[in-house]
Amino acid sequence: MGIKLTCLACGQGNRVPRERLNAGHKCGTCGAPLVEDKPVDISIDILKKAQRIDELPLIVDFWASWCGPCRMMAPEFSKAAQALKGHARFAKLDTEAFPEAGGRYGIRGIPLLIAFRGGREMGRRTGAISSRDITDWVTAGAGA
Ligand code: ZN
Repeated sequence: MGIKLTCLACGQGNRVPRERLNAGHKCGTCGAPLVEDKPVDISIDILKKAQRIDELPLIVDFWASWCGPCRMMAPEFSKAAQALKGHARFAKLDTEAFPEAGGRYGIRGIPLLIAFRGGREMGRRTGAISSRDITDWVTAGAGA
């Protein structure tokens, strides 16, 4: 069995034994690590797939390079990714590279964090927040 995780590099669905989430499991197709201790840049196509099948919370930071608060929050987001390794995965989606994200996810302002799990949106937060607020929110709201 194991839990379903989409490879955030190539989009391949993988199954990982729960007890091995922190054991450096790699994608069976492209060899990228499936569980990392840092945010991973993703495309909108991979996000669409991951949000549908992933059984571990996926926390997505919708950001843009021109957005000061986004740049300010980036190190906080990275710290949260490290703290919650094996409990949630963290990804970043560049809203300039994928402008269709705005309509699809109803984005009104960035940085925007959305937590997905098992085909559902578990919650969202707009505006820059600290790593502690991110980890508290994920732990309480996203079921990590
Ligand atoms: Zn892969």
